[in-house]
Amino acid sequence: MKTNKRWVIKLGTGILTRKDGRLDGSQFSQIIAQVAALNRKGYEVVLVTSGAIGAGMEAMEHDSRPSQITELQACATVGQIRLMAEYQKRLLKHDLHGAQLLLTYWDLDSRSCYENARRTLQFLLEKKNFIPIVNENDAISGEEIKVGDNDRLSAHVACMVQADWLVILSNVEGLLESPDEPDKLISIVRHLDADVWNLAKGTNSERSVGGMTTKLLAAKIAAESGITTVIANGRDKNVLIDLAAGKKRGTRFVLE
Ligand code: GLU
Repeated sequence: MKTNKRWVIKLGTGILTRKDGRLDGSQFSQIIAQVAALNRKGYEVVLVTSGAIGAGMEAMEHDSRPSQITELQACATVGQIRLMAEYQKRLLKHDLHGAQLLLTYWDLDSRSCYENARRTLQFLLEKKNFIPIVNENDAISGEEIKVGDNDRLSAHVACMVQADWLVILSNVEGLLESPDEPDKLISIVRHLDADVWNLAKGTNSERSVGGMTTKLLAAKIAAESGITTVIANGRDKNVLIDLAAGKKRGTRFVLE
């Protein structure tokens, strides 16, 4: 029987960091509290997290995103460990453990690597108190061959674990009818047609990658595989709990 309880949740840099670029501890706390509540209700959750480069920039005292690739990759290595420390600290409070998986484009492309990643995730999910936390392995992914953004990475991970839902949390409410009218949220998308693509506007923040276009690309990958995809605001303190309770939040993609 389909339970709809296997969720991949993507957390964008914008909701994990404060305006000054520092990791936002209160956001980690509220998100992990919701993940723990879902876990207690029998949900199997995989997190796909961004924020490594952002956290590394803070530690390495970069005000803007380094343009030099080695510097950027070094930022990711410094930031990744800080990011995981934030997750682990909160998860332990709920008797949960984080399990880090860093993937590259090659891992998705190679049958044996893909299978290994899939089996590892499946094993962890069956253990119930382990929360896999996935990011791209930025330090070894060359610029020319990268998944590139965690929106699409999260869609691939959702397909890999045959998730029921992919929830992409960022600092926007969802897909808007117009960028100037934040209250005009499109609650459901059934066809990814030209009009919908036209609504997507790229963002170019110093710390994060992607924008609405990459979120739509992710929705396309996941929703075409039958995975209910939601784009919602990760600063909304009950968003995951509300979605699980069947309340309308964000934009939902259920393609026909
Ligand atoms: N892997 C990048 C990071 O951890 C994020 C990429 C993205 O946000 O799409 O900083």
